[in-house]
Amino acid sequence: MIKHFFDEILTPNGWRQNQLLDIAENGEILAARDGAAHEADIVHHGFAVPGMANVHSHAFQRAMAGLAEMAGPSADSFWSWRQVMYRFLSAITPDQLEAIASQLYLEMLKSGFTSVGEFHYLHHDRDGAAYADPSEMSGRIIAAAKETGIGLTLLPVLYRYGGFGGEPPQEHQRRFIMEGENFLNLVERLQEACKSEPSCIVGVAPHSLRAVDPTLLRDLIAQVPADMPCHIHIAEQQKEVADCVEWSGLRPVDWLFENVAVDERWCLVHATHIKESGRKSIAQSGAVVGLCPITEANLGDGVFPASVFLKDGGRIALGSDSNIYISLAEEVRMLEYGQRLTHESRNVLGNETNSTGMQIYSKAFLGGHQALGRPGEPGLQVGSRANFVVLDKNHPALIGKSARKILDSWLFAGDNTVVKDVAVDGKLVIRDRHHLEEEAITHRFRRVMKELAAGY
Ligand SMILES: [Zn+2]
Repeated sequence: MIKHFFDEILTPNGWRQNQLLDIAENGEILAARDGAAHEADIVHHGFAVPGMANVHSHAFQRAMAGLAEMAGPSADSFWSWRQVMYRFLSAITPDQLEAIASQLYLEMLKSGFTSVGEFHYLHHDRDGAAYADPSEMSGRIIAAAKETGIGLTLLPVLYRYGGFGGEPPQEHQRRFIMEGENFLNLVERLQEACKSEPSCIVGVAPHSLRAVDPTLLRDLIAQVPADMPCHIHIAEQQKEVADCVEWSGLRPVDWLFENVAVDERWCLVHATHIKESGRKSIAQSGAVVGLCPITEANLGDGVFPASVFLKDGGRIALGSDSNIYISLAEEVRMLEYGQRLTHESRNVLGNETNSTGMQIYSKAFLGGHQALGRPGEPGLQVGSRANFVVLDKNHPALIGKSARKILDSWLFAGDNTVVKDVAVDGKLVIRDRHHLEEEAITHRFRRVMKELAAGY
């Protein structure tokens, strides 16, 4: 057991001063109590907050950040970005994927994320053939999570078709196309691989309504455990909505609720373009909407109706999706600023009880914990896993501020350098802004980027 001391800590019941956490070998919080620094094994002079889940990531896309910012001859859209992405992913090897994912997860930890939902669809070799070990690429994601120490919810993706109505896949989708049976075998293999990794959980991710057909989707849901996290991209783009209406007569979210029992295990990623009926269905179901504000802005997706969705009692979480930029603070800021620009108003997602930073952080923290199926009760309390982020009280953005202004000061006026120490399952993975394996991880990433970014 290790005793950690904090100047201030954010518990489910609010901020507490001069706190000790007794943390077991397995990462569980055994006791949370008043105390003094001299009683502790490790002293954190700062403000501890619960570590956030990043519910939506495509690791390999971190390596193409900055390579798709050139306008084409006609109106640029998500679909032109997707062409660059397809070209990029056609080259990546297993070693390269692991190097990229390690660097990415390191950056996530340093920005305050303590777990990640990896929406992983790069299953096959470059020619589209299955690897001798079908879990080759997934294994590289697990290895990167293990090396960096981030909590992983691995979401292998079922991608079978090229468009609504069972359209055949396109040539450049060959690295991720799978039949239902092969996919279920992969899920089983991954469950086996994660058995010995306490921070690894396996879920499933039907890629989108355009990539599976109704039978495949229903079969998948029926054949995996009922509590397994289930994530899907939905209603991200107007074209996707129009194609779905043309195919089925329904908008994507309405179609999903008509055809599948959506409940708390579901994470609907984006859900940007929804009408009132879809919005109310999601809120009532207890499913989480996985918002990716920086990526949604970068891709020109649109703005999710977050303020009215929260008023309906809806649940949200945050994801970094394309990984164009890694910053927990910036994701929160972009979410709120999108609402301010839309509504021409301030503090749109806050309320009279909670400041805006506190409100978004608390909602996204609880939603993220649920969506990734992370173990234990959420929050820094007895019986929970010790996932915490210590904010540096001597950082210029925080100096002199009281605890109730700390989250707003970090999220609206600070950046990743506010994050000083980070623990996952009780293990300090970032100490004084540094990861023990940082030099080796970044050295490998540098070599891979020189190979991959050449020619762009
Ligand atoms: Zn995505």
